[in-house]
Order: sequence, then structure tokens, then C-alpha cells
Amino acid sequence: MQYPEAISRLIESFTKLPGIGPKTAVRLAFHVLDMEEDDVLMFGKALVSAKRDISYCSICGNITDKDPCYVCSDKHRNRTIVCVVQDSRDVIAMEKMRDYQGLYHVLHGAISPMEGIGPEDINVSSLLTRLQADEGITEIILATNPNIEGEATAMYLSRLLKPTGIRVTRIAHGLPVGGDLEYADEVTLSRAMEGRREL
Ligand SMILES: [Zn+2]
Repeated sequence: MQYPEAISRLIESFTKLPGIGPKTAVRLAFHVLDMEEDDVLMFGKALVSAKRDISYCSICGNITDKDPCYVCSDKHRNRTIVCVVQDSRDVIAMEKMRDYQGLYHVLHGAISPMEGIGPEDINVSSLLTRLQADEGITEIILATNPNIEGEATAMYLSRLLKPTGIRVTRIAHGLPVGGDLEYADEVTLSRAMEGRREL
């Protein structure tokens, strides 16, 4: 027996999500059938609005619902420091720490020769444009993940930025090697920032 068309489509949609296998997709689809109609409507609206209303900040590349984002447009932030991270989720992790008052630049990825991801595939060129346009920036903190891709990206950026004369630092390795910045606890992340070193 085949699933009715509407269920098949829902299962197929769930299968497209990361970490959702066919069995889980079926379970989720049937769960939707058991949900209150209001909740289903809200779920559908949340999906559409997340996609439609969220865009990328034209300055730092972070996800935002207004451009420039709240960090870039906050006059109280320290505008001389830019912390370079791989992902918007890393910005959330850094902001939770509350110690950091500077600005961000989100790369949306890391250099990975194994996967064929080069500097041109991540948000690097806008960082250079930004540094050329804003002479007030005096330090770039490279806070890419402490794994092979993150280190490769940090090395690449430090070489690229050297000629600009701007101080380039790398966060310390209180962070577990191979781990993701996003999952680091606040204390570890805070120490890693304090212990950053010049590259
Ligand atoms: Zn921004």
C-alpha cells in the first residue's frame, strides 16, 4: 500500500532535512497528522517566515531580519575589532558569552581542499572590502573552529591580511580540537578569547 499523496509529499519534505532518515521522516509526518490544526498552521508559517524574512547583513554576513544587523548598527560596540567566525550560530555563542563587545564577520563555511571549498566559496572578499572601506578596524580575531578546516582558513586569512598591517589574532586552544565553536561552553569560549595570540 502506498501513502496518500499529501503524506508522501510531507515525508519527502522531512527527508530533505539534515539528520532525518526515511523512518524518522515517516514518524514526523504521522505526528503532524496528530497535531492540532493551529499548531500545524503556526509551524508552516514559521517555516515560511524564517525563509522569507531572514537575510544576510550586507556588512558582516550574519543572518538578520534588518540590514545592517543589530550588531553592525549598534553604536555602543567596539568598532575597532572584528571577530571572524564560520557560522551565524557562532555569533550567537559569542554573544551569550557577553564579554565580547566588538563586531563580527561571518564566513559561512571554511576552506576545505578535501571537499573542494576554496576561499572564493566563503565570505572572504567582503571582509577585504570591509577592511579597505573602514580604516578604524585595528584587530581581526580569527575564531574559526579548532579543526583542520578552521585552522586552514585561519592560516589563509592571516597570510592574506598580513600586508594590511592590521593586528591578526587567533583564539587560544582552550577549545577542544576537532570541536565546534558553537558547542563550546561560555567559560571555555571566554578563556579562548582572552588567550588569543598574534598570528
Ligand atoms: Zn552585520
